[in-house]
Amino acid sequence: MSEPSAKPKRKRVNIRRPDVMERVQAEVESHYRSPIVEKIRKEGGEITIGNTTLRLAQEFGFCYGVERAIDLAYASRRVFADKRIFLIGEIIHNPEVNRQLGEMNIVSLPWTELSSQYDELTEEDVAIVPAFGAPTSFMDKLEERGCIVVDTTCGDVMKVWRRVRSYAKDAITSIIHGKAGHEETRATASRAMGDDMKGHYLIILTLADTDYVCDYIQNGGDRNQFLERFSEDAHSEGFDPDLHLHQVGVANQTTMLKSETEEIQRRISAALKERDGNEDGFQVFDTICGATQERQDALFKMLDRKPDLLFVVGGYNSSNTTHLVEIGQEALPTFFIQDATCLASLETIAHYDLSTKNETKSNYPSQLLSDDPIIIGVTAGASCPANLIEATILRSFELRGISRDALQVD
Ligand code: SF4
Repeated sequence: MSEPSAKPKRKRVNIRRPDVMERVQAEVESHYRSPIVEKIRKEGGEITIGNTTLRLAQEFGFCYGVERAIDLAYASRRVFADKRIFLIGEIIHNPEVNRQLGEMNIVSLPWTELSSQYDELTEEDVAIVPAFGAPTSFMDKLEERGCIVVDTTCGDVMKVWRRVRSYAKDAITSIIHGKAGHEETRATASRAMGDDMKGHYLIILTLADTDYVCDYIQNGGDRNQFLERFSEDAHSEGFDPDLHLHQVGVANQTTMLKSETEEIQRRISAALKERDGNEDGFQVFDTICGATQERQDALFKMLDRKPDLLFVVGGYNSSNTTHLVEIGQEALPTFFIQDATCLASLETIAHYDLSTKNETKSNYPSQLLSDDPIIIGVTAGASCPANLIEATILRSFELRGISRDALQVD
């Protein structure tokens, strides 16, 4: 495939036409809607049949950013019916949604590297940018190839980008609380280098990372050891802890655990104050998105009247879902399940183990399979469609010997 001779102009096409969106809405509803979830929500989030109570968190499942991204992807297929449509990685972190897009012949491209497939894109192709956004190098490549870009990046992610760009403009190093390999954090990190690509960033994930950085800020240390501790993708090229930890600004991946992010901000601010005698070298901007916050708050509220066990439904690579699991695990038996197939067996439950990062099998809690009364809590991450939550609810009742008919839903 030859390089285009001149940079083609980015084509702008309005795909949110009323006629298209009407059809998209019907399709999205038919794929992901759940009458059972709607019924339970209407009835205050709880349903009891016999000695089994199913309690939903007040907020769970699809967020506005995910809904918008899915709508745009479906609309692309309708508007560009005859074109090849590509997607950078996954639209969101849910296998079922990505499977549906695959069925619509929307082809996923690698998201960790700009493979040669990107060089084969043409002006006739459509490229969808997922809800997490994409690094500037990927956006530049799409621009260079001249393809039609459908950008579904969530507005809350773009808010973080504006913040880290402004840090870079003021020669402030961005400390990003997030996962270095996560799509959103990769995209944010690329913006933290600023328009001139001279800015710097450091990505930290844990409180242990934070304490290490704080110790370096206060006491200095071995530069090479520092760089060895953080993987290459966790800091900008040329990052030097002796030079680039003087002025720092903290931002975070939108889906992190709020309490942890706040603690990280507090520790870094305290370390700088200790070193400098003031906080002039510290800036902070809380960039956890509203939807993540609401789902975490709703789960904490649910735990005020603790169920006997909790199912958290969502993709195993979903960051916001993972944090719901962490919150649950602190309080009660919690199972991170991808969908109802994890509950298919009568003996064991398949669920994701956050410590080993693998799906594993455990025996069901004995109470679930007994005749004793039980309250089953259910919540789901921002990328989990309602139909998967419905299937989990139905299977939970089924394990208690209660059929769908008893829920009295068409
Ligand atoms: S989880 Fe937050 S940042 Fe991510 S798509 Fe939803 S609203 Fe946007």
